[in-house]
Amino acid sequence: MPELPEVETIVRDLRPHLVGRAILSAKLSHDDVLRGVSKRKLLASLKGARIISMDRRAKHAVIELKLATRPPAHPPTRLIIQPGMTGSLTIADEPLEPGAARYAVLRAPLDDGRELVYRDVRRLGTILLLDEKAWTAYDAALGPEPLDPELTPARFAAIMASSKQAIKKVLMDQRKIVGVGNIYANEALFAAGIDPSKPASLLTPRQNKLLLSHVRRILQAAIDSQGTTFRDYRTGTGEKGNFQLELFVYGREGEKCRVCGTRLAHTHEIDARITVFCHRCQQ
Ligand SMILES: [Zn+2]
Repeated sequence: MPELPEVETIVRDLRPHLVGRAILSAKLSHDDVLRGVSKRKLLASLKGARIISMDRRAKHAVIELKLATRPPAHPPTRLIIQPGMTGSLTIADEPLEPGAARYAVLRAPLDDGRELVYRDVRRLGTILLLDEKAWTAYDAALGPEPLDPELTPARFAAIMASSKQAIKKVLMDQRKIVGVGNIYANEALFAAGIDPSKPASLLTPRQNKLLLSHVRRILQAAIDSQGTTFRDYRTGTGEKGNFQLELFVYGREGEKCRVCGTRLAHTHEIDARITVFCHRCQQ
């Protein structure tokens, strides 16, 4: 699943190639990826649109567009692409060969001869087109970005204090804070020494501070390794992998804690996803 670091990597890679370009036309192979916009409206809007900026919000790529069909002073419209598990957003230097175009859902040739392509084998991703008002509502429904400096430890603590649910559940709730997937939640809670089932409102100020800093460290390391995220710290040949992070708990249920040697426990009871933790290190 493309998580925050993967989408951030895609956006950073594509941004310099896309900003300032105009979309000549667009083709959509299947409309089951669309949410709240018809195929006809999407294609009519994209035709002739100029790309003003490209950013990430949560796990979505956000492309700001100046539509050719709207007066110049009109606020931008945003094309939102959330790549699903089998989705990828790329730029092709030349028109796609028929074989390469096979899973292309959205194709948008640009005014420099290149082409923006969204591929999605199983079409698990989604595409939205939002005007200013719809974007404001969409953005407001999402929690703050974990890497945003405006998310101070005090603000983070206030969000956690507002819920009696298990801290792991709150950490993964996109309305509370965005972009923290299951692996990141498991690892950050272990690193901060916090029991994943502890009610979020009972975290101490120190635990909140530690948790935020570990969430940031882990996400940043994943971005620095361009979304390669985690690998176990030994390769198949027993050498140290060249990755930013080793996994301490995720995928290691039943194995020994790397810190204290206690056998790691696991549960599906918190949020129906796997939670792996150390009874001894996490309180
Ligand atoms: Zn331990």
